[in-house]
Parts: sequence; C-alpha cells; structure tokens
Amino acid sequence: MELLTIGAFARLSGLTPKALRLYDDLGLLPPARVDPGSGYRCYDPAQLEQARLVAWLRRLGMPLARIRVVCGLAAPAAAAEVAAYWADCEADHAARRDLALALTEELSGTGVMAMAAGDDRLEVRYAAATDTGRVREHNQDVAFAGPRLLAVADGFGPGGDRAAAAVIDALRPLAEGPAAGDLLTALQDAVQEANEALPGLPAGAGAGQAGTTLTALAWSGSRLALAHIGDSRAYLLRGGELFRFTHDHSYVQRLVDEGRLLPDEAAAHPQRMLLLRALDGDPGSVPDTARREAHAGDRYLLCSDGLSRVVPEAHIRDALRRAADPAAAVQHLIGLANAAGGPDNIACAVADVVSRPAHAPAG
Ligand code: MG
Repeated sequence: MELLTIGAFARLSGLTPKALRLYDDLGLLPPARVDPGSGYRCYDPAQLEQARLVAWLRRLGMPLARIRVVCGLAAPAAAAEVAAYWADCEADHAARRDLALALTEELSGTGVMAMAAGDDRLEVRYAAATDTGRVREHNQDVAFAGPRLLAVADGFGPGGDRAAAAVIDALRPLAEGPAAGDLLTALQDAVQEANEALPGLPAGAGAGQAGTTLTALAWSGSRLALAHIGDSRAYLLRGGELFRFTHDHSYVQRLVDEGRLLPDEAAAHPQRMLLLRALDGDPGSVPDTARREAHAGDRYLLCSDGLSRVVPEAHIRDALRRAADPAAAVQHLIGLANAAGGPDNIACAVADVVSRPAHAPAG
C-alpha cells in the first residue's frame, strides 16, 4: 500500500503537520515510516481512523495523556473512557460555575442572588458542640451557635479554658438582637473588649503561652461578618464544594506560605501547635476580619484544630454534604475526629442558611 506524505495525511486527518510531529514525539501516533536520510515522515492510510479520533478528542479538550489511554482501548472500553472523561468535565464545570457566581457577587457586592435573597427572606438553623477527645484530660474548647452568631474558641495554656469561655460570653449579645450600626464594627469591638478583659491569664503571658483562638461569624439577613485569630477555621459548603475562608495564624502555615513546608507535612510538624497570633490580652492581638454574603443553601462550619488537624478536608466535605441538619453534622464531625484518635479537644459549630417560608414573620 502506498504511504501518504505528512502533508497529505494532515489534510485527510484534520491534524496539522506540527501536531503530527508532536504526537509522534509522544508515541501517540507514530508514522508508518521515517526516511532514515531526510527524517521525512510517511503515514499508512489505515492510520487515518486513529488520527481522526485523536483530532476529535482534542476538540473535546481531552489531555494528550488521556487520549493515549483511549487509543489503547478496544471500542466499548474506549467509549466508556470518553463518557467518564465527560462526566469529570461536567462536574468540574458545575463546581467552577458556582465559584464564579460566588466571586462575581462577592466582588460586585450587589449580586443578583444576594438581592433576591434579601435580608428578611433568609433564616439560619444551627448547632454546636465540643468534645474532650480521647487524649486530653480537660476540655478547653468552647463552641457557640445562636440565631445571629456562630463561634468557636480553642483555649490554650494555663487559664486557656476561662479565656475561651470569656471571649465567647463577650460575643453573646451579638447573638440576641440586631447589632446597632455596622455588623462588622460591632463584632470587632466585641472581640477587642473581650481580649482586653481576658481573665485568669498569668501576668505577662503572650501568644504561645496562654490565651485562646477565636473564629466567629455574625450575620444579619444575608450579610455576614467574620472575625478570626489563631488556627481554628471557617469553611463554607456551597454547591457541594468546600471552601475554607480563614488563614491559620500558625508557625507551620507560615512555613507553607513561604514554600518551606508542604501542606501535607504541616499536620506532623513538631511545632504544629505554635500560634503566631491569638487573643492573649495584648492590645496588639487583632483578628482578621471580612464581610461575606450568605446564600440560601449555604452550610457554614467553624471548627477548632482538633477536627481540621486530624480529619482530611475531603472527609469534612463529605460529612457536611451528607448530614441532614446542623446537629447531625456536628455529631458526625466530632465522631470522625475521635475515630482519627481524638488527640485534641474538638469544637464544631454548623449553620445552614435557608429561605424563610413566604408566610413566616421575619426574626
Ligand atoms: Mg486545639
């Protein structure tokens, strides 16, 4: 059979000569013959069928490595591989669509969903609990969930339990009624006052010796205010995907940020407990703050490191996806941390944002 020149083969297959040279280099579509003198490539007409399949798979956006897998399979298995690839694409697309929508609304501040959700049409269902875990003798974690506030605090050092409880107590008024004035300012003020009034800490104690972390979400309708200091965390489950929106103020996180430690190595680092910032009575201990917009269907999780250090985020995500309500989510997450050894106290607070029935009064 007469071989085709690379130009003729390119025209008939719909692939460019440049692409054909690349696919040869990758072993995906080697020519039938390469002239030993000129290096000129020639192709067998019988190769056209595979070349056209490669061209179509490229138009589908399939990576070359996966195309090589498809080309190595018999027809029924190749069809299944293409179907599996497309299912992956659709799942990825759906997750990115939700993220793009959330970012658009976040950046514009006046998103369509945010306006449609309106302050008086959202309500929150919530639950919180702590557990001593399986190793520690005392529980220094505190968790709170109420109609307008979600908070966790992880006390450490001598008096850490009292520090955590005092900080949460100081925030309770935010849970009971609409904040006078700006919500984020009210939250910041409450945290600052709580920090300056911290009881029971040894004189001169600083971060790393005694104090408490705090991660708190206060909300009014669809508007959320976040205050965060330490290594407790805030997560959002939206559209089935889990997003963390706090940054740990810890020594290992700094090493990760500087590229000196891989994220997977942080949990086992000997100085993993060392905090760079916490509420410790020092006026310079200032939390990160942020405003966010809640959507109906959002599920928020605040947790101490007793959960996040021992339970992989994929497992946290799956537990949040499956739980029927916030109370079930909290209990399941605490169970996961204990099943992983429960080396530390565990605090979890979960809130669901739901649309209020049309006839129900605003709370
Ligand atoms: Mg802890």
